[in-house]
Amino acid sequence: MIVVLLGPPGAGKGTQGERIAAALGVPKIATGDVLRAAVKAGTPLGLEAKGYMDRGDLVPDVVILGIMKQALAAPEQARGVVLDGVVRTVPQAEGLAAVLAELHRPLDVVLLFTIAEDALVARLSGRTVCDGCQTPFTGRAPSETHAECAQSPKGTLVRRKDDEPDAVRNRMRVYEAQTAPVVAWYRAHGANVAAIDALGALDVVQARALKAVGKG
Ligand SMILES: [Zn+2]
Repeated sequence: MIVVLLGPPGAGKGTQGERIAAALGVPKIATGDVLRAAVKAGTPLGLEAKGYMDRGDLVPDVVILGIMKQALAAPEQARGVVLDGVVRTVPQAEGLAAVLAELHRPLDVVLLFTIAEDALVARLSGRTVCDGCQTPFTGRAPSETHAECAQSPKGTLVRRKDDEPDAVRNRMRVYEAQTAPVVAWYRAHGANVAAIDALGALDVVQARALKAVGKG
């Protein structure tokens, strides 16, 4: 079972990916994890990737796909894998399709987590963190004092810059510009694209996703 996850940052794709992978009994892998593992292991492709990273450059798709191919060929991935953040652009979708074809592994389903921009803004702007003890909160406003703070003086709740409404709306625009063509590409190539409503409690969204992968 090979599952590709698509969805905007903050939609809960990573958390749901973990849950889906656990339910399917397969690993979830993200590009960053695979890349770090290859660099740490000092594989030829890992060293090549490290060269780009050390220079502050983006690692090219061809290097990442080579590392991904080796990861997908590993025995731990024999039963399947949930791929998170591996496909963000059409060239990456094409590259992954080529890798899977070489490995004779079909892509079973693309889970497209969807959430309205206003709902995402509301969700993320409701997240704060104590600037003293780093405790995260949901539904508490910035500038409140953290009454139970372990730090002295007590910390103040702050919102991460990434969670500010303007930042969220900007990320959503970038995501949509990149991802709409990816979804269209998958549909045009006959992939099973299942849209999952990402708004709701974790268990509710999980049930929707599991149904889409045939485990509901
Ligand atoms: Zn605190």
